[in-house]
Amino acid sequence: MWFKTNIRFFVLLDVFEEKWENWDMNIYLDIDGVLIDKNHKPVKNVVKFLKYMTKNHNCYWLTTHCRTGGNRAFEYLEDKLPAKALKYIKKIKPTDWNTLKTEAIDFTKDFLWYDDFILPAEENVLKEHDCLKNLVRVEDSKLIY
Ligand SMILES: [Mg+2]
Repeated sequence: MWFKTNIRFFVLLDVFEEKWENWDMNIYLDIDGVLIDKNHKPVKNVVKFLKYMTKNHNCYWLTTHCRTGGNRAFEYLEDKLPAKALKYIKKIKPTDWNTLKTEAIDFTKDFLWYDDFILPAEENVLKEHDCLKNLVRVEDSKLIY
């Protein structure tokens, strides 16, 4: 719990410290409202965020752009994110889900899920696994930093 709270804080503050490197964790990333805002513009520090996450953790897409296992994230993002971000988003793996995004979450492993909107049913699944704390809610594309 201490780790989870602090990694969240760490990500928010954009403080890069050696001690956090290689702390293995699954990171689930929504796209719209998280990496890009409602005008399809990249959020602040998105390249730093993606670099850090893909270097240190196992990153997965949890987005409608990858629903049912197809990976349409890169083609969706390649003209919306800075060019420097593209090598990092290539490292992010697709997930396979149909109805609820929580279908794709591996609850046996530590994780953080960045999203701006989740369904009540998804919230219930998180609660059942006592994992509501693993959700990082992003509001107005601003929570990342
Ligand atoms: Mg979203």
